[in-house]
Amino acid sequence: MNDIKTLLNSLGLADSAFSGGTLAVRSPIDGALLGAVHEASADEMRAAIARAQAAQLAWRIVPAPRRGELVRLFGEELRRHKQNLARLVSLEAGKVTSEGEGEVQEMIDICDFAVGLSRQLHGLTIASERPGHRMMEQWLPLGVVGIISAFNFPVAVWAWNAALALVCGNSCVWKPSEKTPLTALATQALFERALARFDGAPAHLSQVLNGGAAVGEAMVDDHRVALVSATGSTRMGRAVGPKVAARFGRCLLELGGNNAIIVSPSADLELAVRGILFGAYGTAGQRCTTTRRVIIHESIHDELVARLDRARAQLKIGSPVEAGTLIGPLIDQAAFDAMQQALAAAREQGGEVSGGERALAAQYPHAWYATPALVRMPAQTAVVRQETFAPILYTLKYQSLEEAIALQNDVPQGLSSAIFSNDLREAELFVSAAGSDCGIANVNIGTSGAEIGGAFGGEKETGGGRESGSDAWRAYMRRATNTVNYSSALPLAQGVKFEI
Ligand code: NAD
Repeated sequence: MNDIKTLLNSLGLADSAFSGGTLAVRSPIDGALLGAVHEASADEMRAAIARAQAAQLAWRIVPAPRRGELVRLFGEELRRHKQNLARLVSLEAGKVTSEGEGEVQEMIDICDFAVGLSRQLHGLTIASERPGHRMMEQWLPLGVVGIISAFNFPVAVWAWNAALALVCGNSCVWKPSEKTPLTALATQALFERALARFDGAPAHLSQVLNGGAAVGEAMVDDHRVALVSATGSTRMGRAVGPKVAARFGRCLLELGGNNAIIVSPSADLELAVRGILFGAYGTAGQRCTTTRRVIIHESIHDELVARLDRARAQLKIGSPVEAGTLIGPLIDQAAFDAMQQALAAAREQGGEVSGGERALAAQYPHAWYATPALVRMPAQTAVVRQETFAPILYTLKYQSLEEAIALQNDVPQGLSSAIFSNDLREAELFVSAAGSDCGIANVNIGTSGAEIGGAFGGEKETGGGRESGSDAWRAYMRRATNTVNYSSALPLAQGVKFEI
């Protein structure tokens, strides 16, 4: 407890910020109580939205490159506090040290990206059909951006949204996962340090309100929130999407994945094994881009599955903050129970299961570690088609590449996908219109670990949203088409006459 107190203080949090509240925070590492934070009410959410709206009215007229300067300062705070924030991610979300650090690095990367972008929020100039007229489009600030985030990327997801939203001239209200409120409070404290070094930012530009679905719902229902960017399960997206649509708000949904890797006969199997192991079992299978299925050509199926099974059994499970650990804990008992249910269903549906048992129960009786599971499936049955947020890898066999691609696409989700192949025709087919139907399709790398420079997101039940790089910034702005008449006549478009 003293350790966590020192850590939270070093990140700028006063003791009162993490004690005395009603939302208890437990570490998935050992079940220890890390703190108890204030849970916001729906009324507090509505009041925060009102403050955010006032802040946005002032922020929208600050020149975008100047807004970028605030994000640059925030990136500096993140660089300075990277190790400590990463450690908090490990303690609260159970990520191994390098992944916790990688998460904070993603925040730094998106800040750098957003700073450059703040000078490039460009629209088109379009040829007008009328003489003496100029037509152009502008991208203008949107309003209040509501951010709902999941436990498994407790801070990076917020940064992907907030860094872009802020340079685009918006204010932000954040409802983090109820499982990871401390990392959110610490991130907010770092942001406030950046604000203190910045001249001319309105108060309440970014706020965080902790709590469960109810406080998230108050945000979703509020017409003053122009964009709701929500990351989490498809179940959550099904609740949020229609509500925002009903009030004609904008929604950016980043939901569940069920990602597959195809391994063709020409694949470099060394690379494939490493890519599959990290993809399937890294972060204990708790990434939206986790590899959940591997679809292997029949000629190499038995050999590759045997190799994966041997390597799987050697992955070091343990406390994520101990050196050498590759697999940390599941977030809670509910996650472990869901894993056991999926494995039982897989057995019923003809699967042959290796691993998947509870691990380290004697050492950590109040935590939920599991050995990574590999399940040889006879077909893509119902359980394989659902996302179970745990380290379970289903193996499937294929004969033709067309069959493999059809299997890969035949799930409700459409986030990430990959092929391991040294055959140019196979690789190009996989990324073509007749190939993967996912938002991310890779060749000779796994399904997880995206860079922030590309747009991130997926199709179908993954929700269709795109965040992070490329032109994802446009989701945080409104487009205005402007036609300026600098002539002394008033010609109407399409040659229409209306004269007295
Ligand atoms: P979750 O759906 O349980 O919760 C996510 C967030 O939504 C939390 O903040 C929660 O409080 C909030 N929430 C839940 N119901 C709500 C409602 N009705 N209204 C408003 N807010 C509500 O998800 P989780 O267990 O925290 O995270 C795991 C899931 O997130 C997985 O399905 C994973 O694939 C997905 N995920 C997707 C991405 C992506 O970018 N596509 C990234 C990370 C995680």
